[in-house]
Amino acid sequence: MSGHAAFDRLKAGEAARRRDFGLEARRAALRALAASIRAHEAEIMAALAQDLRKPAVEVRLTEIVPVLAEIRHTLHHLRGWMRVRRVRPTLAMLGTRARLRPEPKGTTLIIAPWNYPLSLSLGPLVSALAAGCAAVVKPSEMAPATAALIGRIVADLPEGLAEVVEGGVEVATELLAQPFDHMFFTGSPEVGKVVMAAAAKHLGSVTLELGGKSPVIIGPGADLTRAARMIAWGKFANAGQTCIAPDHVFVPRTLQEPFLTALRDQIAAMYGADPQTSGSFARIINARHVARLAGLLDDARAHGAELVQGGDLREDDLYLAPTVLTRTTPDMAVETEELFGPILPVIAYDDLAAVIARVNAGPKPLALYVFEKDRDLIETVTRDTSSGAVGVNVTLAHYLHLNLPFGGIGNSGLGAAHGIWGFRAFSHEKPVLEDRFSSLALLMPPYGSAKERLARLVQKILG
Ligand code: NAD
Repeated sequence: MSGHAAFDRLKAGEAARRRDFGLEARRAALRALAASIRAHEAEIMAALAQDLRKPAVEVRLTEIVPVLAEIRHTLHHLRGWMRVRRVRPTLAMLGTRARLRPEPKGTTLIIAPWNYPLSLSLGPLVSALAAGCAAVVKPSEMAPATAALIGRIVADLPEGLAEVVEGGVEVATELLAQPFDHMFFTGSPEVGKVVMAAAAKHLGSVTLELGGKSPVIIGPGADLTRAARMIAWGKFANAGQTCIAPDHVFVPRTLQEPFLTALRDQIAAMYGADPQTSGSFARIINARHVARLAGLLDDARAHGAELVQGGDLREDDLYLAPTVLTRTTPDMAVETEELFGPILPVIAYDDLAAVIARVNAGPKPLALYVFEKDRDLIETVTRDTSSGAVGVNVTLAHYLHLNLPFGGIGNSGLGAAHGIWGFRAFSHEKPVLEDRFSSLALLMPPYGSAKERLARLVQKILG
């Protein structure tokens, strides 16, 4: 189906959805989605093995669980989120009654990336359905097996709530030309700008879940073993192709060697002596990205970076070993571009203030991680930097906390996903004001000296 036809089909049902797609119908749709995901479990495993050689445990924990948990959380809270809330009148509005009524934005578009191709397509769909919206879902063409499967999963939903349109840039461009009421985009900051510009043409709203370089700051009082374990896990899960993966690490110069030793131990413990033979290590999405990562490594090494771990690259297997670099410099591409692969620069520092200044000089990251025991240092880093989220002595896990909004700021995104924030992304909180016995009529024309005195009195009281 073309993007145009998918939009028209869902838009045509909007009036009926406003009327009929209430709490129970939304719950039924979410239950149908959960049931379909469960029914397709084996196919999900197979599709993600095909697209990314994603280990089954990672598929379960990062593709299936997040969507099912989002559905469970939503089923539990939806009644409360949908509740029409009374709002107390202000002094000026005495004699009125006001309420806030969340209404569905309407017909929406979800565009997803390839790195978590299932959960980043279906997670936003949960929020769209919860809010009472219909959605066209465009999965990433770079994970084709998963994209096709998403079509089959979504086909199990009740008619008229979602359409899956497969394809690449051309298809996405056609979709972006449709006057969707909301566009929920997950992907790179570059394409995020394209989406925002397209939405501006018809003043549609956007949620932009973008990427960038998420730094790790290790403090002088960090537990290095714990830091190394968390960083190795966060960095090398899905072969580093995670939007909130630690991109690079700042470590006090005096701790660099012990940290590198701890990191090496953790990588060996997780992936063995030869990660290529490990069943726990995913592959790079395609040859183009292998070449991109090879280019980053070549550039770094040509300019004096030291390879302290990994670097092993097998194009025919789309494999790049967990790789650690030191002696990188700010002019190298590894320090300027989002790495989005299993390459970890470890940068020694002498002065924390300079690290904070450097983080603040760049685009605002999606996540910032700090490893430290000292509360004051944690507070300093948290207060003095700006990022989508902060992880303290942990990586990645804030993504799974459904009572926290997930999103970026500035270059890393706009708006938020998950739980009630996902619901709000697809909702308009509509104020409804009802007059009962307000004194507004006293202020209406014709104006004379009495009204003038009254206006002055109003100013005195309210102004
Ligand atoms: P991408 O921006 O290249 O593609 C994302 C989607 O946009 C795909 O469906 C693609 O078909 C479509 N697209 C590509 N070019 C387009 C264009 N010119 N016009 C319209 N649509 C277009 O991103 P990707 O390579 O799939 O994913 C990697 C990026 O996504 C990284 O930057 C990563 O950090 C980010 N990301 C962010 C999150 C998050 O939740 N914030 C999650 C995962 C990935």
